[in-house]
Amino acid sequence: MQGDGRRLRVIGEWDVAVVGSGAAGISAAVTAARYGARTVLVERQAYLGGMGTGGMVGVFCGLYTGGPEKRAIPSAFGGDVTDRLAREGACGWSDIRRTRVVHYDVGVLKVVYDALATESGVDLLLQTGVTGVLADEGRIHGLVVDNVEYHGVLLAKQVIDASGDASVVHWTTGRTEKGGAAGETQGATLVFRMANVDTARAVAVSRDGFSELLEQANREGTFNLPRTDGYFFATTHPGEVNCNMTRVAGLDTTMAAEATLAEVVARQQVQEYARFLRARVPGFRDSYLSFYGSTLGIRETRRIVGDYVVTEDDLRVARAFDDGVAYAAWPMEIHAATGDGTVWEWLPDDAWLEIPHRALLPLGLTNVQAAGRCISTTHEALGSTRVMGTCMSMGEAVGVAAAQAARRGLSIRELPMAELRGELDAYRRVETDTRRRVG
Ligand SMILES: Cc1cc2nc3c(=O)[nH]c(=O)nc-3n(C[C@H](O)[C@H](O)[C@H](O)COP(=O)(O)OP(=O)(O)OC[C@H]3O[C@@H](n4cnc5c(N)ncnc54)[C@H](O)[C@@H]3O)c2cc1C
Repeated sequence: MQGDGRRLRVIGEWDVAVVGSGAAGISAAVTAARYGARTVLVERQAYLGGMGTGGMVGVFCGLYTGGPEKRAIPSAFGGDVTDRLAREGACGWSDIRRTRVVHYDVGVLKVVYDALATESGVDLLLQTGVTGVLADEGRIHGLVVDNVEYHGVLLAKQVIDASGDASVVHWTTGRTEKGGAAGETQGATLVFRMANVDTARAVAVSRDGFSELLEQANREGTFNLPRTDGYFFATTHPGEVNCNMTRVAGLDTTMAAEATLAEVVARQQVQEYARFLRARVPGFRDSYLSFYGSTLGIRETRRIVGDYVVTEDDLRVARAFDDGVAYAAWPMEIHAATGDGTVWEWLPDDAWLEIPHRALLPLGLTNVQAAGRCISTTHEALGSTRVMGTCMSMGEAVGVAAAQAARRGLSIRELPMAELRGELDAYRRVETDTRRRVG
């Protein structure tokens, strides 16, 4: 017998280690690397992008304010992503409700993220799960990872938890929260794509009209459609729409058995909604289910408990903070935890909230930041901060902060705030396509 029994061994040492490559993690890793930090990005899937690719979300929200002006939030990384997608003819801008969004091709986004990561010098580890931490009082020294080759440790001076589930912080301190007052979390959705749709006929069906068709089908008892406020959205390809209409509620996807059941239930729902679309919705008669997300789309699980908790009141007044480092402009969009319905509450016209750096700092840890949907907020505020434009903005903030802290040998709370904010302003002042207008 010659095997090493998967003995734990040190793989290398980095200035910054980023866990998870959703909109927050990829933005954080690219930014840290651009700022000179030796950076490793660890992702358990075979591709970058998290919900934005694997979950087939397909639309960037939060890059623009809501209101008559639809101002672009300052975003260097967001601008780079949309510029590159536009060059490939793989994205488009549209005004919906009171704001502006960018819809994009999910496959091309994976390649754009690959390019941004490799060009910036990030060390990429795909198909690699972070499975534990090496930590002592107040500090993470290394991440335990598993992949096809090794069971190893990545040593790092600064760690960014962009796992969506706040897993790294949870394993280290146990100081995380989940959901609202009763632990309820927003419903999950498996996004799917229908092809060969007569889109001219389909888009003539209003959102309200679509809901009525769903409700009618449920009343007749011929279909079982748990959510009736979903809709479908144009993609960058003719005859194709992305469908955001399933709802898996009441299951906790941080529990293994429930996460498994959620995926199974979601796939059953996709089949049922596709059957409904073909049978009942104008323009879909000859369509077919061409693709669905490789993972169920999760809106909410665990959040860190940070030095500051962003609240719904902060969003209602679009509060600014002395340590504001990222921008949230999307309304609080809260999908029902059980049953049907989605609540929307907008920020003041054309205003954004500044997310304070303290909301990215987990209590009790000196070299760890969080970014993305797992930062320190209330359940309600998360309805806004979770969207990808905001996640990218947070990624920029933690990326610059981690690079500065690693270079200067400081703990994350010792960073001079004026310098961090100054550096972020300089980074984001780049004139980018996020300022582009429709047409
Ligand atoms: C159905 C649905 C529709 C949505 N619609 C929109 C929309 O239209 N526009 C919009 O902007 N936002 C939308 N959102 C919200 C948005 O997509 C997510 O909130 C956002 O992508 C979160 O980004 P993130 O980087 O925090 O996490 P995620 O995108 O969840 O990424 C986390 C990453 O970490 C990886 N990871 C986790 N744990 C580990 C580990 N232990 N080891 C290694 N890797 C790990 C995961 O594989 C994943 O790639 C939607 C969300 C859902 C679910």
